[in-house]
Amino acid sequence: MANETFDVVIVGGGMGGLNLAALLTKEGKRVLVLEKSGRDRLGGRAASGKIGNAAIDNGIKGLILAGTQDEIYRRIGKTMPENVCRWTNSGQVHMNGEWRKLDDIVRGSLAEFFKVYVDTAKVWSYEEIEKLDDVSVARFVTERTDDQGVIDFFRYLGWLFGGTLSIPHDYSAGMLFYSVKKQIETLGTFPSQSYWVKGGSGAIAGPLIEAIEERGGEIRTNTSVSHVVIENGRVRGVEIEEGERRVPTERFDTRMIEAPVVVSAVAIWDIFNILSEDDLSPWYADRLRHLHRKTLNDATLTYGHDDPELWDHSGPRWVQEGPVTGRPWCASSLEFSDDSNQYETTFWIQTGWWEKPSLFQMREASHKIALNKLFDDWEKDIQQLFPGVVEKAHWRHRSFGPATLIETPGNVGRNPIDIRAEGVEGLYLIGERTSAAKIMGVYGSAQVALEACRLIMDRS
Ligand SMILES: Cc1cc2nc3c(=O)[nH]c(=O)nc-3n(C[C@H](O)[C@H](O)[C@H](O)COP(=O)(O)OP(=O)(O)OC[C@H]3O[C@@H](n4cnc5c(N)ncnc54)[C@H](O)[C@@H]3O)c2cc1C
Repeated sequence: MANETFDVVIVGGGMGGLNLAALLTKEGKRVLVLEKSGRDRLGGRAASGKIGNAAIDNGIKGLILAGTQDEIYRRIGKTMPENVCRWTNSGQVHMNGEWRKLDDIVRGSLAEFFKVYVDTAKVWSYEEIEKLDDVSVARFVTERTDDQGVIDFFRYLGWLFGGTLSIPHDYSAGMLFYSVKKQIETLGTFPSQSYWVKGGSGAIAGPLIEAIEERGGEIRTNTSVSHVVIENGRVRGVEIEEGERRVPTERFDTRMIEAPVVVSAVAIWDIFNILSEDDLSPWYADRLRHLHRKTLNDATLTYGHDDPELWDHSGPRWVQEGPVTGRPWCASSLEFSDDSNQYETTFWIQTGWWEKPSLFQMREASHKIALNKLFDDWEKDIQQLFPGVVEKAHWRHRSFGPATLIETPGNVGRNPIDIRAEGVEGLYLIGERTSAAKIMGVYGSAQVALEACRLIMDRS
């Protein structure tokens, strides 16, 4: 069979790959997206499934608003799926053994601190902000205040992303203020609320899939790319796996699909499954190797119930130190506006490469044991601090996965990974923590897709 040919082949049908495919088909490119999972898993880490009538998200609960994903929908003539969340940024914090109102904590010195730096971020240019890429938030804060309340707040609480995630204290200050500036610029306020999508997070992929297919783009699911084909420093296409293994050790047959531009939209830690380090320039490969294990993981524990009394719905909760886990975690509960009898209460814990080896490598048996212990201990924390939520739940859902890459100094500073793969003409890497992704999560994927589209269109 003759090889097929496309203008652009994109490996990976997560939000990064779909965003870019939608933008490029709009520009008239012949695009093929190859995704190793089934069609119901398009959206990748942002996909969702079902428990009864409830949409269960793979990971994401709330999109971190920054305006960029909205810009992509606008460009391709689609609209953002409906927000179903009734949720506010106020809430309560469990600190030193007692509950306190977030609003009370935020008053006084903390409010003053926020005001000064949020106002400052408005007038700083992006170039000025970039100078803080190599400065951790912890250093930024402690160099400017000795108020313990302010320092604790930054160490344990997530004010940055609409209040859903606790920030590790070594997050890059440059990325923090980039996000602040971007949100103020595009949305008018900070902190913006997160966005809970009707039908689950997976619904955000729907308009992109529609846009790609309406304009003649092709999405092939259940198709795994075996490797990117590179000859003499130039991309030639990809090889895909074909056929079924009859015995586990059998090698797949492969088939070539040709394209002058190939985009890897797999997560950075999966890149060396499809690319050989030898094809890239040595420093670029080295930097990728360094980065690809630096994940920030999210553990979530979600309970479905129908009792409004189980939760005070005025806002999320932060726990500075769980009584059994000894860890910080946070929680929020949603009353879905499309079904007011359904509540979903979700708890988050972040773990990262800095605590290896305990929870970091999921594939190893000892770490699975550690992970299960974390979930069991965490449930005991919840039973102590939120009586009834565990006992009265109709269903429970545990999830764990790499949410993003993170390290201090933020890699966007000294050694940015460019979207254009150094050493290979026509190869682009998109995904978190390339130089264009300064915002975490789905909005980071959107930023990178916009920049990659610009670079690819500039070639022609
Ligand atoms: C538990 C958890 C919680 C999170 N919470 C939030 C949140 O609240 N808000 C937020 O904005 N973000 C959140 N995120 C992060 C967000 O999910 C990701 O940043 C975003 O979805 C990444 O998109 P991506 O397209 O870059 O990567 P992915 O979604 O990982 O897409 C990569 C795709 O490539 C495919 N693939 C891999 N190898 C191959 C191959 N060889 N051939 C073909 N296909 C291949 C994979 O199957 C996958 O579909 C969370 C993530 C997790 C795991």
